[in-house]
Amino acid sequence: MFFSAENTGGLLNIFTNRKGGKSSAPFNSLNFGFATGDDLQNVEENYRLLSKKAGFNKPIITCKQVHKTGIAEVQEVHGAIEVNNGTVSGLFNPLNKNYIYSRIKADALYTETKNLPIGVYTADCLPVIVSDKKKSFVMAIHCGWRGVVDGIVEKSFVFLQNKGKTDFEVILGPAINQCCFELKHEGNLFDPSSVKERNSSSYVNLKNEVRLRCSNTAKDLIKIDDIDHCTCCNKELFFSYRRDKTTGRHINIGCLQA
Ligand SMILES: [Zn+2]
Repeated sequence: MFFSAENTGGLLNIFTNRKGGKSSAPFNSLNFGFATGDDLQNVEENYRLLSKKAGFNKPIITCKQVHKTGIAEVQEVHGAIEVNNGTVSGLFNPLNKNYIYSRIKADALYTETKNLPIGVYTADCLPVIVSDKKKSFVMAIHCGWRGVVDGIVEKSFVFLQNKGKTDFEVILGPAINQCCFELKHEGNLFDPSSVKERNSSSYVNLKNEVRLRCSNTAKDLIKIDDIDHCTCCNKELFFSYRRDKTTGRHINIGCLQA
């Protein structure tokens, strides 16, 4: 169920694998994507299973990801969940208290609320979890190549620095690696050190690109950890949009611990 679930002094981060869920092929089996074509009831059951295993007592919050650079601020105010200062609306089954899928379009989520899991979906894109030394906040960022070249990494750190945050700790989750990430025409949008040309295609190292952009923007970056597995190479453990097109989505969660 978890590819990695680490509790590091105040922050729980979870990167799911595709095993241990209820969905059938081609979404087998731990699919968290609602817009994939999978049976909604199976997806809901997957959230329930994950919440139980992780011990969450609040719903997992996600937003509508659109490969852009929007940031959503999530908080709990007097027991109600708010996204961007409005009471949450969206796909939420009141009988299933395990998740809220907000209609707000955002590819990065931010919270300072303890025990409130926030997450981003991926199937090849790079999930990035950011926190600080004090674990005073957590941010989950969906880094697809479009969002990255449009500046979601820079925008996220400017947002954090405007809030007075410092001493950043970054975790890069499993994503498609350079071995499999071929772009025909967009190689020139990346730093030259992130691109290898082969057979008139560009092979992009998205993690290298994100690392560079983190280092260039974050004033005091303490560390960047990397869970280094290629989602496209490993069909056993990972969904891959590139490889399979119709497939499931992983969820990648950051949750501040009380
Ligand atoms: Zn690969």
